[in-house]
Amino acid sequence: MWYFDSPRVVFGEGALSHLKEIEGRRAFIVSDHNVAELGFVEAAQDHLAKAGMESKAFLEVEPDPSLRTVIGGARAMSDYEPDWVVGLGGGSCMDAAKAMWVLYERPDLKPEAINPVETLGLRKKARLIAIPTTAGTGAEVTWMIVLTDTEDDRKLGLGSRENLADVAIVDPEMSAGMPPRLTADTGLDALTHAIEGYASSWGNDFSDGLCLKAAELVFRYLPQAYADGNDSEAREKMANAATLAGLGFGNSMAGLAHSMAHSLGGVFHTPHGRAVGLFLPYTIEYAAREKPQRYAEMARHLGLPNGSEPEGASSLVGALRGLLERLEHPGSLKAAGIERDSLRERMEKLVENAANEATTVVHPRIASMDELERLFFCAHEGREVDF
Ligand SMILES: [Zn+2]
Repeated sequence: MWYFDSPRVVFGEGALSHLKEIEGRRAFIVSDHNVAELGFVEAAQDHLAKAGMESKAFLEVEPDPSLRTVIGGARAMSDYEPDWVVGLGGGSCMDAAKAMWVLYERPDLKPEAINPVETLGLRKKARLIAIPTTAGTGAEVTWMIVLTDTEDDRKLGLGSRENLADVAIVDPEMSAGMPPRLTADTGLDALTHAIEGYASSWGNDFSDGLCLKAAELVFRYLPQAYADGNDSEAREKMANAATLAGLGFGNSMAGLAHSMAHSLGGVFHTPHGRAVGLFLPYTIEYAAREKPQRYAEMARHLGLPNGSEPEGASSLVGALRGLLERLEHPGSLKAAGIERDSLRERMEKLVENAANEATTVVHPRIASMDELERLFFCAHEGREVDF
């Protein structure tokens, strides 16, 4: 037995105006100053006002939101007593909104206690709307929450199926004009979700179709969105791809590139999309040495050479490396500015944290501590994985 969960997804140009139709009293918007400067917070508040709702915005979410921010936001939320919570921004804002909402509903809980086994009993006070302003994380349709424990330099993977948003609003106009680097990073996050969600040992018939379509859209439209931020077709397709990939991997699981990226991000603060895009070819190479089948299927779907399963997997890696090059994405940790000495110094922690990620055990091939260390070094030097 398995489950497929999804919010109601409102998508396409102008989807933000769906906020006019929300029925409620008072909305608490969780966002950040960048998103506010782009005018999106005000736009959301205008629509909510037309729905006859009051609203208040909390703009203090930082990249890689910390436990402290989430606890502070939940307190502000409790004072305001909203019946709708709106997460508006990148994955950080949406994840912070999910966690704050849980703590608002359940003030007896600590954020660390939000896990899939706990019955939370949410929706007694409010419901959740998630609105992405980037095209990548898929956080609008996933129940996972990533927070950072700043005292211990590590990312915490939290969340429960109950904290999935009620409504996801996917409006490509929100990501129009995103700078190229952010477009590439977030788009590669979507691609990593699609490929890892497909290859995951928790992959299933429902997630498969979503992951295949999402990967196809990213390969086709990400270079266009990167080259011309105002290409509205590319923006729309990337916005849809990110949500499709979110639904795909959210209903299966991500894989080892995510484990390594979370671990790296906790220590070196490398942006999530930059890190997963960088690790993805290495983690595919590693898995495909024993289990190439799922990657070969994806290569076949993408029309890449796939005479045999190993050939299919290596065409997928080749296509991926080609894409990274077109996006001027760092192909190694060295190219991403991480010195070998600092990597070596923090290696024990990097390996331990990566090994403890849930995504490590659902990767098609499960890496030992020793192999994880070797993978970090391969990714540092840009070397092919040959073990
Ligand atoms: Zn991701």
